[in-house]
Amino acid sequence: MRENNRKKLSQRVSCSNERLAKKDKIAKILKILAESYPGAGTALNFNTPFELMIAAILSAQCTDKQVNRITAGLFKKYNTPREFAALSPEKLEEEIKGCGLYRNKSKYIIEASRELLKHYGGLVPQTREELEALPGVGWKTAGVVLGVAFEGSVLPVDTHVRRVAHRLELSEANDPVKVEKELVDYIPPQQRMPAHHRLIAHGREICSARKPACGICCLQELCKYPSKGEERS
Ligand code: SF4
Repeated sequence: MRENNRKKLSQRVSCSNERLAKKDKIAKILKILAESYPGAGTALNFNTPFELMIAAILSAQCTDKQVNRITAGLFKKYNTPREFAALSPEKLEEEIKGCGLYRNKSKYIIEASRELLKHYGGLVPQTREELEALPGVGWKTAGVVLGVAFEGSVLPVDTHVRRVAHRLELSEANDPVKVEKELVDYIPPQQRMPAHHRLIAHGREICSARKPACGICCLQELCKYPSKGEERS
């Protein structure tokens, strides 16, 4: 019995030491990233929460640059839920066909606009639950809207955030929702969106999918990624 208690206590101490070490490592990473990418922010262009929501829906399987090219013209013609709700799917498809999955996105945007008019007076809701109930709005899109438009304490995980988190051994999860949950456990609320933007900036500029530039990486000393600098297939 006493032996069992001793084992349990030792497991608890080791677990708490691991947590402290991880917390310390994440704090160091965020400090370095803050110095390296002080102005990192969203790359999507928008003027209102509604425009951001549309841009975030369009950004699934499409680069932010391409979304900005499309929305530059689109938002000059239509930029309110009432205007989008009145469009036919075919008309909107014409406007957004430069991005992937445009047929589905067209339907989602029109339906989401109608839902906003019907339930929220044409305004974008500010809770995850309400956002995720809108057509075309999943966990990540809701997180981007909450974090960027409403200063929510979230850390949306896209492909860049997940890749950098994997390489730095901050999470092993593949599911972005799990990665976010694991990260926010160690990051104070006010630092979560800055961390999101900076991890994306680092993933885009240095820790790319195919050829991470480990030789010039500001996080080299904290990273054990085994194939540093080798081209990935
Ligand atoms: S050292 Fe290489 S793998 Fe690690 S974070 Fe930097 S670029 Fe990415």
